[in-house]
Formats: sequence, structure tokens, C-alpha cells
Amino acid sequence: MSKLPTASFPITKKIWLNGRMVDWQKANVHVLSHALHYGSAVFEGIRFYETAKGPAIFRLKEHVDRLFYSAKSLEMKIPFSRSEVTKAIVRTVAINKVASGYIRPLAFFDYGKMGLNPTGGRVSLAIACWPWGSYLGGKPIRVKTSKLIRLHPDSVVADAKVSGHYVNSILASIEIKKAKFDEALFLDHRGFVAEGPGENIFFLKKGKLHTPKLGSILAGITRDAVTKIAAGLGVSTKEGNYKLKDFYSADEVFFTGTAAEVQPIGSLDLKKIGNGRSGEFTTKLRETFLAAVAGEIPKYKKWLTFAK
Ligand code: PMP
Repeated sequence: MSKLPTASFPITKKIWLNGRMVDWQKANVHVLSHALHYGSAVFEGIRFYETAKGPAIFRLKEHVDRLFYSAKSLEMKIPFSRSEVTKAIVRTVAINKVASGYIRPLAFFDYGKMGLNPTGGRVSLAIACWPWGSYLGGKPIRVKTSKLIRLHPDSVVADAKVSGHYVNSILASIEIKKAKFDEALFLDHRGFVAEGPGENIFFLKKGKLHTPKLGSILAGITRDAVTKIAAGLGVSTKEGNYKLKDFYSADEVFFTGTAAEVQPIGSLDLKKIGNGRSGEFTTKLRETFLAAVAGEIPKYKKWLTFAK
């Protein structure tokens, strides 16, 4: 095989593929794999963090559960049990000897069938990990509402993490990068604020947190963690239908996500949020989140799976 071109992110040694550890360079698929043509794949994005007891995977059970939920939405049978997938993820982190980073499990309809309905087709599962720092930088970012709306919940299973859904996110990301913003925000088909291309969104107003309710968004695992951490800090979260004006007039606005963690938003559609800096509560929440994932807060240690 010819040498792989350079990647824009650091690669590691091994990728778990269908039950075997293979060299990074050799984890390949056929160009006629179903998923490559139609997006018939499901995936997860998971982070693992450096702790005093070695690398710890954040909320592994919830991610594995969501992977199986997403697969079910496509009637895809992952040829491994939850426990096998869980162990394979831990092994992938351990074998690559990376202190912290990102894990990408991907289950996809592989080579062998070509019509649109993949039911009964061969399913493959790959698990890769690599060191990956902050996604949006952690400093307040400039966000712009996309011209595109979030996928209609009657068109797709909106809370499943299906690869094909991400064309919506890709288009919005291209649009806002061209306009020189840092990240996009989607409204849903009714005009309510939905989520970012890879993040959930919250606003703080008069000491209370608010976040769009489920329906056309991904049920973020960080969204859930942040809601619990905020409650621990004495701040409750209300889920509702919110308009852009609710966000424009908020005291603080931030994104949450596995890649983005807790990411302050400095401006939305060129309107400054608060004083444009990371708000006091967002800063506190981010610090507490980062301490929780590093294993420094006993009550949140239950969220960590150590990968020694
Ligand atoms: N929304 C979308 C569309 C996403 O891709 C993600 C990233 N998985 C999120 C929200 C945040 O979810 P989580 O906190 O589980 O990473």
C-alpha cells in the first residue's frame, strides 16, 4: 500500500477494526462501501483525560449506549455486544499510550450491498483515538446563525448520531467560516434555537440556565453533565423553546459538547453577549467541568472509566 498522506491531526499507532488491532495505516475500506456513498454510518465522539490514575474516559457507558441507539435507528446490527465495544474502546486508549485525547468509534455499512436499503448488509466497527486539544479554543468565540435550519425531526431521527446527518453541519460550517465567524448556530424548522453543528447551547439569565429542549437536537452527554454540574453549583436548568432574542439578551451564552467542552460565546450574530468575555458562571462551570473530567471531584468520579 502507498504511504498515507499527512493528516492535520496527530495520529496514533493502532486502530481497533472488527475485533483486531490493526496498524493505523492499514485500517482501510473499499471505495464501494455503502456508508461512503450514503452516510449509512453511526459514530461517537468521546474524550479521555489525563488523571492521577492514568487516562480516564468520560461517560463511556452513555456514549456506548448512544452508539447502539443510533445504530438501531438505521436498523444496523453492530456485530459486537455493548460490553465488547466498551472493552475495545478501553483497549484502544490503553494500547496507544496517549494521556488525553479523542476517541472515534464508527459503525458503518461496509462493502457488499449497493441499493439504498442497507438492511442485512455487512456492518463493520472501527475505533480510533488520537491526542486532540481544545476544539474551539476555550476563549469567547464569535457565533453566527446559519442560513440553513437544523434537520427536520420528521426527516431524520434527530437524536441519533448518524454520519449522513452531518452534511447539515458541514454546510453550516462552510458558510460561517466563509463569513469569518468561529462557529455556526442552527434554528429549527419552527424558528427556535436548536444547537451548533457539533454542540448544544445554553444561556444564563437572571441566575437560571436555559437550554433548547429535545426534539430536533442531539441529546448531548456534555449537556447532561453540565446540567448536573450547574445544579451542584446551585443553578437549575430549564429546557424550553427559545428564540434568538432570548440568547441576544442573555447574561451569558455557551456551547457544550465532547469536542467543545464548555465553550463561552462572546457574540452571536455580531451582538455582544454580556461584556463579550467569558461570563462569571460560564468560567466557573468550565473550571468545574475540567476538574470533574480530571478526576478531581469525588462525586463526579463515577463518570470516569480508567484505561490503564
Ligand atoms: N449536537 C451535535 C449535532 C453534536 O454533533 C454534538 C457532539 N456529539 C453535540 C450536540 C454535543 O453532544 P455531546 O455532548 O454528547 O458530545
